[in-house]
Amino acid sequence: MKRYRINKNTSNNPNGNNEVHNEDCYFYSRILSYEDLGLHVNCQSAVAEAKRRCYVRADGCKTCSPTCHRG
Ligand SMILES: [Zn+2]
Repeated sequence: MKRYRINKNTSNNPNGNNEVHNEDCYFYSRILSYEDLGLHVNCQSAVAEAKRRCYVRADGCKTCSPTCHRG
């Protein structure tokens, strides 16, 4: 299980997505505006949780969650 958080700020993302990061990610501790998504077994679960919280443009980070990264 890893902790995940979602970046509330989409202005740095070329596709306007809310990127989802896990606690091992370089960016995890550097996001200024985020919401904690809690503990998840994988990024699919974390992205699904984000979508339940109405982040319709939630997407896995290319660096830490490449299997959940679509664009
Ligand atoms: Zn990341």
